[in-house]
Amino acid sequence: MQENNAKGTDISTLGEFGLIKHLTKNIKLKHESTNFGVGDDAAVIDCKNKKTVVTTDLLLEGIHFDLMYTPLKHLGYKCIAVNVSDVYAMNATPMQVTVSIAISKRFTVEAIDEIYEGINLACENYNVDLVGGDTTSSLTGLCISVTAIGEAEESQLAYRSGAKENDLICVSGNLGAAFAGLQLLEREKRVYDNNPNMQPDLSGHDYILERQLKPEARKDIFERLQAAKIVPNSMIDISDGLSSDVMHICEESKVGCLIYEEKIPIDYETHKMAEELNMNYSTFSLNGGEDYELLFTVPLDKFDAIEEMEDVKVIGHITNESKGKYLVTRDNVEIELQAQGWNPIKED
Ligand code: ADP
Ligand code: MG
Repeated sequence: MQENNAKGTDISTLGEFGLIKHLTKNIKLKHESTNFGVGDDAAVIDCKNKKTVVTTDLLLEGIHFDLMYTPLKHLGYKCIAVNVSDVYAMNATPMQVTVSIAISKRFTVEAIDEIYEGINLACENYNVDLVGGDTTSSLTGLCISVTAIGEAEESQLAYRSGAKENDLICVSGNLGAAFAGLQLLEREKRVYDNNPNMQPDLSGHDYILERQLKPEARKDIFERLQAAKIVPNSMIDISDGLSSDVMHICEESKVGCLIYEEKIPIDYETHKMAEELNMNYSTFSLNGGEDYELLFTVPLDKFDAIEEMEDVKVIGHITNESKGKYLVTRDNVEIELQAQGWNPIKED
């Protein structure tokens, strides 16, 4: 396993406080609103008269990631990206994060450094300050919890509950790629488990692997919406899969929806992977999780502005609640949407 580095430095040589100091000594704060970061009992943030949004995600080894094939740097990057994605999904600007980490003895200082390289890179890319966290030991796996804090004018916030009848349903990027990447990694892991002499065959799949291992939050789409002066009536980031997440919007907004299968954007590599695995590619785009694309609804009169917006597609519209939630298939058959999203608490 990659984190077992025989030549690495044992964490006990630094101790808890030494490790925290080592990990946080180079932090440079970017935002005026961050009055005080690491180093006291709590960070101090000055939000002036804006609204503050707060969101947390917990990532557990063996549940949310597998260290057999997840590079530690990517893992650090991903845990920040998935949190700022939730802030963008509120149509807010991420400003600060805290990172809490539980580590077992098998991790070396170098391994933790790799995780923090990814964390620091993501903090640069998403322009957020790392202002605190907690560090503790774990008897079993690695556990990382990130909290992200963002700000927005009240009038800019986009809730799941704001969708209106006749709204256009829009999605950024393409869907199912992260799930396709996961399927590939799991397949190659099974091959390896059966015969450790087999080399994994990951060639030609760079895009879907990156979508799984190093997802990006759609900062660019958030900025495009702002530039176009569009405040979505509702918004969510797609973490469980399009089906589940559009249903969240419908349920919170008390509306129905009509989604057109042929309009759901899907990348060529995702398509190819589904074919290779003998699976329906629409299953990937509808039910595959961890896309971290933005799904939002806007009033019909924003159609032209959305058409012009790079990397955003209209995939359907909001209907009256009594019409239900439907997918129009390529064969023009209406089928009821089902939440088959990825749910770690479901019983197998
Ligand atoms: P306390 O005992 O009050 O919880 P700690 O010794 O855990 O304080 O933390 C000292 C400082 O270091 C705090 O500002 C805390 O937010 C920060 N900190 C602790 N662990 C981490 C970490 N893994 N990443 C970033 N900051 C951390
Ligand atoms: Mg602490």
